[in-house]
Amino acid sequence: MKRIMTSSDRVRDCKSLYSKRSDCKSARTGLNHEADHALRELTDPIQKKKDLMRIDVQYGNAEERRVIEGSEQRTAYKHGEIEEGEITRNNHNGYRYEMNSSITTVGVLEW
Ligand SMILES: [Zn+2]
Repeated sequence: MKRIMTSSDRVRDCKSLYSKRSDCKSARTGLNHEADHALRELTDPIQKKKDLMRIDVQYGNAEERRVIEGSEQRTAYKHGEIEEGEITRNNHNGYRYEMNSSITTVGVLEW
């Protein structure tokens, strides 16, 4: 029997990322982070490759620093996930958690 996917299934499939509990970012902000990497692959592949090879103690490599300190901060701010002057995270680490939707940072076990 074929099972039809419901909206609650999609919600359960949503995953967000946080490096510590107070540093949540939504899946849509995470998607933008990955899109930034992908865009650079199309527009500046040589420098991206160099930056991936350049070790950065805090973020792992220079490409991650560029994205996390750049578009990730602007996106999270525009999504209302951080206040002006706050940051989403200061590393490239994080834990995945289940959330209510792809546009929120509220976990399924929170209300
Ligand atoms: Zn990244």
